[in-house]
Amino acid sequence: MCAEIDGTLNLDPDDLKKRITSRTRAVLVVHMLGTPARLPEIAEVCRANNLVLIEDTAWGCGGNLHGIPLGTWGDIGTFSFDFAKTMTTGEGGMIVFKNYGTYAKAAAWHDHGHENNPVVPRWEDTRSGSGFNFRMNELQGAVGLAQLDKLAGVVTTQRANREHIWNAIQDIPGIEPRIVPEGAYETADALVFLVRNHQLAAKCRECLIQVGLSTKILPEAYTWHFSGTWTHMPELVAAHGGNLYEAFPQSISFLDRAVSLPITVRMADDIPKKARSALQSALQG
Ligand SMILES: *Cc1c(COP(=O)(O)O)cnc(C)c1O
Repeated sequence: MCAEIDGTLNLDPDDLKKRITSRTRAVLVVHMLGTPARLPEIAEVCRANNLVLIEDTAWGCGGNLHGIPLGTWGDIGTFSFDFAKTMTTGEGGMIVFKNYGTYAKAAAWHDHGHENNPVVPRWEDTRSGSGFNFRMNELQGAVGLAQLDKLAGVVTTQRANREHIWNAIQDIPGIEPRIVPEGAYETADALVFLVRNHQLAAKCRECLIQVGLSTKILPEAYTWHFSGTWTHMPELVAAHGGNLYEAFPQSISFLDRAVSLPITVRMADDIPKKARSALQSALQG
């Protein structure tokens, strides 16, 4: 079962409340494109309903809300280190846990069921369940540690670069900023804003491409990342009454007109100016 997003383009805590049933066990929140969801409200809904909170922090690595790192607000935080993420090990990721027992189960599960019992050699290891090989190898670990040293600098630079672009475009009529929760420290992997309608969002992308720039996920990859279009998943369709296209009107009202510009660490000086002229011709031309 999926819930609506709000103006942060992340899980809407008010809609979440309405969708909880006696069968709900956990809430999975995504910090989409590097901006934190409304975590205090979402965590409160989870506490009140005794639900496990899982944060998909694939896009929130290095960000925080009120100084608390994303991925550590909930019971479980998942991170992706694929090649396109803020920090990378080529492929792979990491999961962090609040509860030691849950951590130990997951650690065994990702390591052929090994409990890594210190009092016995590995070949006599204790086990309580089956498992897979989802281990990250040591070479990736070494890359990850080097990347970790760079993380704070990467995020700081992305934030500064995003600010340069935002300052160049924010006064263009028809541009509406994404809503950011109070106390958010975003990873600024993207600059997301809303325009009046889907046609204009598509036109923004066209005009950006004409000046050699691009967009990131929105609007072009909207159907890949939005569960309201995942009609290939019969269980999801059934959970939403058989008509997925009518299940998320609020989410569509935001996603339909969202534009996301990629932010890089090394940014050419003329990019803010180019973005401005492209968006001016899309929205005013
Ligand atoms: C990249 C990403 C994933 C997938 O991560 P993998 O490491 O490819 O499994 C999941 N969720 C979000 C929000 C992502 O950005």
